[in-house]
Formats: sequence, C-alpha cells, structure tokens
Amino acid sequence: MEKKTKMKTSKPQKAKRPAVATSSTGATDDTQPTKGKRLPQTIRGFRDILPEEQAYWRYLATECEQISEVYGFQPITLPIVEATSLFERAVGKVTDIVEKEMFSFTNQGNESLTLRPEPTAGMARAYLQHGLINQPQPVKWYTIGPMFRYQRPQYGRQRQFHQWGCEVIGDNHPTMDATLMLMATNLFQTLGLPTALQVNSIGDKECRPVYRKALLEYYRGHRKELCEDCERRLGKNPLRLLDCKEEGCRALRADAPQFVDHLCTPCRDHFMAMLEYLDDLDVPYVLNPHLVRGLDYYTRTVFEVWAADDESGKTALAGGGRYDDLLAELGGRPTPAVGIGLGMETVILKMKEREVSLPPAPRADVFIAQLSQPARKKAMLLFEELRKSNVRVSASFSKDGLKPQMEMAARLGVRYTIIIGQKEIVDHTAIVRDMEAGMQETFDFKKIINIIQHKLEEEAPIIHTEPLNQKPEEPTVV
Ligand SMILES: [Zn+2]
Ligand SMILES: [Zn+2]
Repeated sequence: MEKKTKMKTSKPQKAKRPAVATSSTGATDDTQPTKGKRLPQTIRGFRDILPEEQAYWRYLATECEQISEVYGFQPITLPIVEATSLFERAVGKVTDIVEKEMFSFTNQGNESLTLRPEPTAGMARAYLQHGLINQPQPVKWYTIGPMFRYQRPQYGRQRQFHQWGCEVIGDNHPTMDATLMLMATNLFQTLGLPTALQVNSIGDKECRPVYRKALLEYYRGHRKELCEDCERRLGKNPLRLLDCKEEGCRALRADAPQFVDHLCTPCRDHFMAMLEYLDDLDVPYVLNPHLVRGLDYYTRTVFEVWAADDESGKTALAGGGRYDDLLAELGGRPTPAVGIGLGMETVILKMKEREVSLPPAPRADVFIAQLSQPARKKAMLLFEELRKSNVRVSASFSKDGLKPQMEMAARLGVRYTIIIGQKEIVDHTAIVRDMEAGMQETFDFKKIINIIQHKLEEEAPIIHTEPLNQKPEEPTVV
C-alpha cells in the first residue's frame, strides 16, 4: 500500500485587499480572506511547471521535435482521454498500468474512459481509425504531451507526466528499431547526458511460449523466494518477474533462463541484424537479458536508455520496443510497428543534476522608457511600430519613474533603451541609450525605428556617440 507522506504546505498568505463592504443582503464578499481557510493546492502527483522551469521544457521539447523531423516523423496530437477498453486491450490486463495505475472514470453517458497512461495505444488506434494502412508505409508519427498514471510520486515520476513518443507503424525492418535507438542516443548526446542503451529481444508468438515455459519451470522451483506480486504474476505473466524491483526477485533473476537462448530463427535473425546496424552506426549498447518492459504489447526488440550512473535502471530516461501484434490485436490487419517514449520530467531532472547549460532565452533588444502621460502614449505607439518591424522590444508602461524602468531594462539585458520624456515630446525627439557602453544620444523621433534597426543589425560599437554628461534622469526634470 502506498504510504501517505505529509506534504509540507506553506502557510496560507493573507491577501492584502481593501475592506469590502457587505452587500445589502448582508452576505460578505467572497474575495475576503477567511481566517484558517486553506488555499487551494495541486492534487498529489500533479505539479505546476512555473515560468522559471520553462527554459528546460522549451529546450527539451525543441530538441525532441527537431530530431523527430530530421528522421522523417510527422507531428500528431491525440486526445488525452480514450475508451478504457483500448488500454485494456493494448497494454494488457495483467500489467501494473491496467491493474492499478489507470485514471479511469465513468462519464455521464455511462462510458468507461481513461486518461491515457502511455501514447502508443492511441497512436495505434488513430492509425487504424484513419485507414493509414492504405497510405505509403511506414507511417512515422511523433507526439509530445501529458500521460497519467496513479503511481507513487517519487524522483522524476509524477501522476501527470510528459512524454515524447515516436512510432513507426507498418515496417518490420530491423533498421527501424536501430534508428529509434540512434535517435535517442543522438538526442542524449546533444543534451549532454551520458547514458547507457540497454537492449534485449523478447521474441514473438512463436518463441515466447517456449521461453515462458522455461521461465515458469525455473521460478516454480523458487516459489517461496518470490515476492507477493510475483507469486501472483507467475501463472499469468511470468516475464514480468524479470522486471521485479524486489531484492529477493532480483537475486533469483541472475540464474533465470535468458530469452536470447530461446528465440526462434526469424526473431534471432531480426535481433542480430538490428545489433549489426547498431554496431555499424557506432551506437554503444548493453545486451540486457532481463529487460522486458512493463507492457504486454511488446514483441522482439525492447530497449531502454538509462543514465550512465544508474546501474539498475531504476529510472529509465527513455524506452521502447517493437509491437508487431498490437494492431492486429486491436482488430486491424497484421501491421508491424516499433516505438520509443521519453520521460520528460526524468530527463529534465537529469539535466538539472548535471547542470546542462541551456541556450540563452530569447530576450528583448530594446526597452522603451517613458516619463509623463503624453510620453507614455507615444511610447506605446512606438512599441507597436518596433514590434511590427520585428524588433524584440519590452516596456513597462505602468511605471512612472525613470529609475525603476532603467532597472528593469538592465535586468532584461537589453542592448538599447529608448527614453521619451517631456522635453523629448516637445522637441519631437527620443534618447537612445547604449546599455553596455553607458552612452546616450538624442535623435529625431521619426528616425528612431531606422536607427534602432541599423544599430541592431550592426551589433558593432556605435560610431556616432558622444558621452553625455547628463544622467539618464535628466528628462524627468519638469
Ligand atoms: Zn517480485
Ligand atoms: Zn520468435
């Protein structure tokens, strides 16, 4: 059972609001802070991704999108909610996901629905629903979005988490498996995260029963050493025993029969060919005979990407495999497929741990500071003109004093600040201050956009500047 941990909550902040008069009905306004009232919180396993964290998300999502497009994947967006039966059929009834991790509910129309726990089932459903089999194969799709699993929140694992998923549907060639692994390897290299690719084959309908039998025989002999979950799983899904994280089961696994010794010839050929491509492409990998993945739909190739310092694969950064039978299971024609999923939360945690440097955030080049009401109006119009001229511009029109505006400009790291004060309004001019050089000069207002564009294009030391003795505060003098 899940242990309930007490969340530390910050004290509700008393909002500072002006007193609100009670209405004629005598009811008090509900914006009034109530003593002891608890402020609303996110539910367990769900979290906000605040602006300060967005740089990581933007960077990772951009890299995922770029690598997907480079390798010929097209973006697709699928519903977050699907029929519960889709996941029962696709993921498998005897899996952790379907048995205990799904966010399922019955809607007003008495349909059983589920928040998607993984992206592949929906992809397969969409491929069948839209008749993609009639188009040139393979169909290559990628998506980025939230998934939901009722699991114990821990390192990098939330109940709402995000995945980048890539699927190749309609191609059984081992180069497809190898390409997905190559993509993942390239991606983690770009991100600067050292990883270890774990690879295994779990056979198909032909050879899996043989292996199952060997596995059953082995584990039956050690029944007493199994954990409760594994004992229950033994009859239904003995492969999952290899995946168990319990100490005792992990120890038992070391001597368990290995799948590679039981693969049928086509499965063995596929596996060997795939490994050869990885060798040829210089993609380093580790043969991991215990890797099975927790979903029923996998056949043949399975793989995970672990952080290089994570020897037990407690938190895989990415994983995937082939699912050649899934589309037929869902009622389609037999259609081979292979896919990969990457856990964005886990990867971002790793990026933070390793202090991966992020590309500089897009920032404004120009700040417009204004003083007095007429200047503010002119500044707002100038802001629009600059924006239309593709100048990245920022401003804070609600501020009055020059000092807070100049502070903000400095904080934003802009190259130039345009200052419009009362004097400039009268003279039809504006001051342009070079923030780095600390110099400023006055220009004809009509020429400001041209001058700014010119300065930004040059990005060189400004030629026609004379140091001003005046402080930037000068225009404030009324
Ligand atoms: Zn176990
Ligand atoms: Zn086989």
